[in-house]
Amino acid sequence: MDNYAVIGSPIAHSRSPTIHHMFAEDLGHEIAYKKLEADEKSFEEHVESFFTKGGKGLNVTLPFKKQAFSMSDNLSSNAKECGAVNTLSFSEDGRISGESTDGIGLIEDLKSNEVVIEDKSILIVGSGGTAQSIIPQLVTNGAQQISLSNRTMANAISLKEQYIHLLDITCLEGGLINRNFDIVINTTSAHLEGTLPEINPVAIQNSVCYDVNYSYGETIFQKWSAENGAKKSIQGWGMLVEQAAESFYIWRGIRPKTREIIDRLSSEPEN
Ligand code: NDP
Repeated sequence: MDNYAVIGSPIAHSRSPTIHHMFAEDLGHEIAYKKLEADEKSFEEHVESFFTKGGKGLNVTLPFKKQAFSMSDNLSSNAKECGAVNTLSFSEDGRISGESTDGIGLIEDLKSNEVVIEDKSILIVGSGGTAQSIIPQLVTNGAQQISLSNRTMANAISLKEQYIHLLDITCLEGGLINRNFDIVINTTSAHLEGTLPEINPVAIQNSVCYDVNYSYGETIFQKWSAENGAKKSIQGWGMLVEQAAESFYIWRGIRPKTREIIDRLSSEPEN
C-alpha cells in the first residue's frame, strides 16, 4: 500500500486524510494517508524520514510551505514562481519534487462555478501565503488586472514586487477603495478572529466574491458579501478539494472526480 501524509502545525484539524481516502475509495485505490505534526526544527527530518521509509507523497501546510520549497530538488515552473510548495513527491532517483497546487485548486473551482477569469479585474484581499500562491495561476488564466489590499500594506507591496515581472499589481487601502471589481477573493485568515478584513462595500458591487476559507454554513465574508451587493458568493470547499485532487494526480497519475466529494464534505461536519 502506498503511503502519503500531510505535515503542518497545527495539523489536527486537517481534512486532507478524509479527502484523499475518499478519492482512493472512489477510484478503487488502496492508500494510507496520515497527519504529521512537526516544528520548524524537525520539519526536514520528518520529510526525509517519511520518504526514506518509502512514503510516496506529502502535502505541506502552514507554516512549512517555504521550507518545503527550499528542500525540493525539482520544482515546477509554477512552484518556482510561487516560492512555496504544498505537494512533495519522492522520485525513483531519490530526489524530492515540489509543486504548489493551491492556485490550480482555486482556478478549477472558479471554472466549475462558471466564473470566467480572462479579461477580468480581480481584487485579492490579503497578502499572505495563499495570495502568493494564487497570483501566478490567475495571471496564466488571463486576469486583466490584479489589485491587492491588506491589513499590513508593506506585505501587499512586497507581494506586488515579487510578481512585478508578471503583472503590474496595484496596492489599495481596503477601506478607501472607490470602484468595484469583477472578482473579489478573500485570502485573509481574519475569520479565525471572527472578523472581516476592512474593505469598502463599493469593491464588491455586482462582483463574484470568493472566500478561500470554508465552514459549515456561510463563512463570515460570504455572508457579508452576499448582503452587501455581490452577485455571487462562494466559499473555499471546492478549492480545498481541487488542490487535493491535483496532488493526487501528481502522485498517482489520475485526477479524481471532485463534485460529489465537495458536496459531501461541505454538508456533513462529521466526515
Ligand atoms: P497567512 O498567515 O500567510 O496570511 C494571512 C493573511 O490574512 C495576511 O494577509 C494577514 O494580514 C491577513 N489577516 C490575518 N488576520 C487578519 C485580520 N484580523 N484582519 C485582516 N486581515 C487579516 O495565511 P494563508 O494565506 O496561508 O491562509 C489564509 C487563509 O486561507 C487561512 O484561513 C487558510 O485556512 C485558508 N486557506 C484555504 C485553502 C483552501 O484550499 N480553501 C488553501 C490555503 C489556505 P497581515 O499581512 O496584515 O498579517
